[in-house]
Amino acid sequence: MTAYPHMLAPLDLGFTTLRNRVLMGSMHTGLEETKDWNRVATFYAERAAGDVGLIVTGGMAPNREGGVFPGAAGLFTEQDIANHRIVTDRVHENGGKIAMQILHAGRYAYSPECVSASAVKSPISPFPPKELDEEGIEKQIADIATAAARAKEAGYDGVEVMGSEGYFLNQFLVTHVNKRTDRWGGSYENRMRLPIEVVKRCREAVGPEFIIIYRLSMIDLVPNGSTWDEVVTLAKAIEAAGATIINTGIGWHEARIPTIATSVPRRAFTWVTKKLMGEISIPIITSNRINTPEVAEDVLSEGCADMVSMARPFLADSDFVKKAAADKGDEIAPCIGCNQACLDHTFSGKLTSCLVNPRACHETELTIAPTEAPKSVAIVGAGPAGLATALTASDRGHAVTLFDKAETLGGQLNLAKQVPGKEEFHGLVAWFETMVARSGITLRLGEAATPEALEAFDEVIIATGVRPRDPKIPGQENPKVLSYIDVLRDGAEVGESVAIVGAGGIGFDVAQFLAHAGESPTDNPEAWREIWGVGDPEEQRGGLAPEGPQPEAAARKVTLLQRKAEKLGKRLGKTTGWIHRAELKMLGVEMVGGVNYEAIEEAGILVSSGETRDNPRVIAAETIVLCAGQEPERSLADALEATGRTVHVIGGADVAAELDAKRAINQGVRLAAAL
Ligand code: NAP
Ligand code: SF4
Repeated sequence: MTAYPHMLAPLDLGFTTLRNRVLMGSMHTGLEETKDWNRVATFYAERAAGDVGLIVTGGMAPNREGGVFPGAAGLFTEQDIANHRIVTDRVHENGGKIAMQILHAGRYAYSPECVSASAVKSPISPFPPKELDEEGIEKQIADIATAAARAKEAGYDGVEVMGSEGYFLNQFLVTHVNKRTDRWGGSYENRMRLPIEVVKRCREAVGPEFIIIYRLSMIDLVPNGSTWDEVVTLAKAIEAAGATIINTGIGWHEARIPTIATSVPRRAFTWVTKKLMGEISIPIITSNRINTPEVAEDVLSEGCADMVSMARPFLADSDFVKKAAADKGDEIAPCIGCNQACLDHTFSGKLTSCLVNPRACHETELTIAPTEAPKSVAIVGAGPAGLATALTASDRGHAVTLFDKAETLGGQLNLAKQVPGKEEFHGLVAWFETMVARSGITLRLGEAATPEALEAFDEVIIATGVRPRDPKIPGQENPKVLSYIDVLRDGAEVGESVAIVGAGGIGFDVAQFLAHAGESPTDNPEAWREIWGVGDPEEQRGGLAPEGPQPEAAARKVTLLQRKAEKLGKRLGKTTGWIHRAELKMLGVEMVGGVNYEAIEEAGILVSSGETRDNPRVIAAETIVLCAGQEPERSLADALEATGRTVHVIGGADVAAELDAKRAINQGVRLAAAL
């Protein structure tokens, strides 16, 4: 008997059956734009081989004006159809089913050619859209229906019509963007005409035996968003227009409420989808922050939906469903919701990958094959770099010994997991522990490796990480001065007022840790909703609470300092930096840039401003925490190299600047793949 009977139950759609209730949600990977169709096909085929029920591709543009950016991929030519056929064939050969998402970005298109219901610019785009006339609207509908027909020709099992997240179809639904007075604007009946017409025409174009998923925005999280009545009315009309399944969309991209970041509670929005259950007779999918089979099973067994959508978890582990079905759920590499290698890459124009799985979207280039010449490999340091190297090398058949001074695995990941909002790091450390325990790796924990202990190994890998940078501030020997390690690892006592020196990722984390009191809102969905101002769409349009965000009371007064005269947190993750800044602002953390650290004094820290060092003032603080960056911990590497030994140095021990787990794991896996 499986632990996940609901998740693994087939779903009969009448003309076809999905093998389980798991949808791999749409993600823009950038793979199609590489034009390497074997690479695109391999990415999806590996997920199909991992037994997911139905895959949805990244969004394909129905025409030029609807592309997310100029040159966005779509099915425009016979050659495009032939290329996509390579993908669908490979998915089918691996037992999977795949639907193509049709994404018309409307005013979110990063292009001066963008179009929408009315000429109302979005707050997140530099381009005001052109208002479509009747003929222009007809062209968009026809282009979307043509894209659906071409998807069928390319061998897809279905399409997903993107109707949520504030994209084109969603823009017609709300008065916030739709100011029209013709038959496409005004009353709700008029505003919903476009999505209904699109689904009808797609159904006509593809015939009855083809999946049409409609992604419907169930809680817009923007002013003047849809009411719940409107959501239900639309869902019924979309069913009548011929959709096979309705998928959940949560929040417009311009919403100021996080919807998928790691600090969002797991399954934070499944209660919204549940409201629609029983209102329509076609299956309903729920989504957002579902990342383990346990969560998926709970969501389904509680009747929140007929199926769950998970997107990023399939970057972290293509075998998610297969492992769950084999009762090896604890071996699923967890998606920690960090966005660091997926969405942050997408929004920087880089190919998507995954922090915990650098092979994601690099399947054809980063291959991990059994070794033909097994070696003895010593790895020093059981942080992310060392662990990733150890697991990959051991998988390949090398005899691996892993040393760490500490008694536990995880290195700096153990600091991150203490921070409110970063609870997912517990799961990542637990996964490493499980995988190491089930591998043949010899563990030598609580042991500082010496050059002598490493002598007999064929290969030595130094992953000794980093040590805190010494900012050399006069007076810093004062006992009121702590390092971030004292605070996050050792639980050092901290006063009522704190100044933090350094506002990088760790400075922000320490500020969050110290300003917050009590249970983490990530573990308390109700408190989280209140903090961010998420209401019930049945009571307020768009699900925005009328009283707005309700920040929690801060545990202490925190001042975050940096020398650069730029906005603090500017260099944090592209898609998550705004969340960290907003969280600290809500906790009353004062952010001060452009300072020089003159001295630590009894009353606090003496700072001055700018190159002329004017405006000297003391920032009152009972405790000062140093988060001034890191330097490579290379002492062992240097000692070994001095004896003539060749070693591999990876992770923070190699380059500390801008070090993060993404680079550490990537470097470790790549080294081990080549050993
Ligand atoms: P960091 O991001 O490099 O930041 C170091 C901070 O210290 C900066 O604010 C820097 O700003 C300041 N600083 C540098 N040299 C200094 C000196 N000599 N005296 C005083 N201040 C100095 O390093 P980190 O915060 O230690 O984080 C390390 C890495 O961990 C990050 O790069 C990040 O990738 C990763 N991390 C990421 C997250 C995340 O949320 N994604 C969270 C935690 C850690 P000024 O030079 O302007 O003063
Ligand atoms: Fe998940 Fe982070 Fe990987 Fe993205 S990079 S898939 S958020 S673990």
